[in-house]
Amino acid sequence: MNVAFVDLKQQYLSLKEEMDKAIFSILDQTTFIGGEPTRSFESQFAKALGVKHCIGVGNGTDAIYIALKMLGVGSGDEVITTAASWISTSETISQTGAKPVFVDIHPEEFTIDIDQIEAKISPRTKAIIPVHFYGQAARIAGIRALCDKHQLFLIEDCAQSHFTKEGNRYVGTFGHAATFSFYPGKNLGAYGDAGAVVTNDDELARKMRMYANHGALKKHAHEMEGINSRLDTLQAAILNVKLPHIHEWNRKRQANAAVYTQLLRSMNLPLRLPLVRENTEHTFHLYVVQTDRRDELKAFLEEQGVQTAIHYPTALPNLKAYQYLGHQPSDFPVASKWQNQSLSLPMYPELTTQEIEYVCEKIRKFFAG
Ligand SMILES: *Cc1c(COP(=O)(O)O)cnc(C)c1O
Repeated sequence: MNVAFVDLKQQYLSLKEEMDKAIFSILDQTTFIGGEPTRSFESQFAKALGVKHCIGVGNGTDAIYIALKMLGVGSGDEVITTAASWISTSETISQTGAKPVFVDIHPEEFTIDIDQIEAKISPRTKAIIPVHFYGQAARIAGIRALCDKHQLFLIEDCAQSHFTKEGNRYVGTFGHAATFSFYPGKNLGAYGDAGAVVTNDDELARKMRMYANHGALKKHAHEMEGINSRLDTLQAAILNVKLPHIHEWNRKRQANAAVYTQLLRSMNLPLRLPLVRENTEHTFHLYVVQTDRRDELKAFLEEQGVQTAIHYPTALPNLKAYQYLGHQPSDFPVASKWQNQSLSLPMYPELTTQEIEYVCEKIRKFFAG
């Protein structure tokens, strides 16, 4: 049996008729930037999440950059973020001229360790960017309280956590702004690059929309210089077809995660399984296990036809890109261990129980041999 890490084709086929119609209608109308599909996606996404404003942008990386810039973050400022994420979270901080200040991760939750944040706050700190990592909510209500106490902006990176919950609220509704990626492999994925930034703040929304469109809300009325980062109409039309299915897809991911956890737990292996934090809803963008024998296990599974991935092989402070900050791996002991132990198992809504059983059986065989 071959088990793919992710299979986007099955989802397309399940929507083919409606999707093809939506795509061809855009070609027919030849409105490729802006227009009704874009406005419709923005309002439906905002409504589904329970926020006032959604601004569609080019991708999830730009979304973070736009939020930081329009909150006034720039040269001389510091922004606190997690040591474990995709580089978008920190590179956008540097792009504004500010300095990324990394905080180690919680050893079981793999999101920013809330207890280590305050020690990193300085008079230059302007904002905190937690990441709801793998679909697991960071301790977001607590982080918001810290931000309020120290008068810092909170930007939630929700690229891996569409409709994840803490308590009865979706992540993305706790911050001054929150950012989403619709990269094809994300829980809600377009057929190319796409992203969004959301907020409840009218003035911030206006500024972010303007900045993403060359500093203009109306053609040629440039109130400032901006960038070109818009959600294109074709991607918006594709997302409009997909959005009504997101809860069903997340439920399937959760069900698949439950099968993995039940099977692997019953096998009693020296393998750490993902923890779902109490009072949260994990949306399992990724199902990530931990073992000291990660590289061997990955190679073994590959031989057995099981595709896995590593998210991510190097913690942010350990990347060459951040050598100039002068960090040692021992400054971030948890993230430095996490990077060598994490293995992402196949995970997508259409994955079958049979496939999960096969993957688990091969993992059992690896540890038995
Ligand atoms: C995917 C991702 C991003 C960036 O999104 P793009 O749309 O690829 O630019 C940002 N942060 C995290 C945590 C991500 O996983």
